[in-house]
Amino acid sequence: MFEDLRDLYQEVIFDHNRNPRNFRIIENADRQVEGFNPLCGDRLTLFLKMNADTIEDASFQGSGCAISTASVSLMTEIIKGKTEAEAETLFKLFHEMTTGKTEDIQLEAVGKLAVLAGVREYPARVKCATLAWHTLDAALKNQQQAISTE
Ligand code: ZN
Repeated sequence: MFEDLRDLYQEVIFDHNRNPRNFRIIENADRQVEGFNPLCGDRLTLFLKMNADTIEDASFQGSGCAISTASVSLMTEIIKGKTEAEAETLFKLFHEMTTGKTEDIQLEAVGKLAVLAGVREYPARVKCATLAWHTLDAALKNQQQAISTE
């Protein structure tokens, strides 16, 4: 049963790595922040189009490992239509889930992001999964400079 779930999770990660969602530039983006994970070499630029405090559109460019690409692809999907506050809550839940601060995954809240919960068993890969979210956090706080996980 658990093995089946693990296979399914891996399939979702492979799928998002092969066909990243929202892999494009938003020309008139309101927020644009670069994120870098020197530990692995993952690099991405996150674009957000805001409508008041709602994330109307999200996209990214860059290159990284399968985990980081799947993570940012899944993130751009899930944050669309969310308010800044809702996105910050997701960031917190995602961070707790991937760093193993909490054992129970709030499936209802995190949805498909749960596929990345497995990285908690691989401390070296946690930053690959959280890079997108740290970059989002910076974008929501309207920081302009590039962020680094180190
Ligand atoms: Zn990586």
